Amino acid sequence: MKRKVTADGTLIEYELTRKRVKNINVRISPDGKVSASAPYFVSFGAVDSLVIKCKDKIVRARDALSKNAVRELTATEKKEFKNALILLTRQTMALFPEIKTPFPEIKLRKMTSRWGSCNAAKNIITYSTELYFKSEECRRYVAAHELCHLLVQNHSKAFWEQLEKAVPDCKKLRKKLNER
Ligand SMILES: [Zn+2]
Repeated sequence: MKRKVTADGTLIEYELTRKRVKNINVRISPDGKVSASAPYFVSFGAVDSLVIKCKDKIVRARDALSKNAVRELTATEKKEFKNALILLTRQTMALFPEIKTPFPEIKLRKMTSRWGSCNAAKNIITYSTELYFKSEECRRYVAAHELCHLLVQNHSKAFWEQLEKAVPDCKKLRKKLNER
């Protein structure tokens, strides 16, 4: 069941589950959600006060989350970033002399689960707006990755070999890109 408590003016909502446990447990999940498990015999008040005691920890978890949250780009930022990505893709394409097709159309849009995508049949590379918050070398990696898909349209061994040939430190960069 859902419960709400207020600790020094901070509203905390939490999910309470009754279990065959000995003690009350309060958990803060990585997405900031608070849950508590408690034995059947303890009062709501006892669980509430333990949740209130965890307030500082909960607030810290929320702060960390909002710091990592990506904000929306302004129209100007989007325009400028798209131009920067076109230039970056052009430079990166020089690493792939095997690509014989014309320079692809570059698109920029909000994507939450991917950094970029490549439609080889239509010759379009789409980048995620979230790349705006990533370093230059990470952006270069994504550009190389998507360009490489113009040659190999899957993530087969051939793809990674091709990518490594153009970008020898691609494994390191890929790891860096997916770090928070
Ligand atoms: Zn890919």
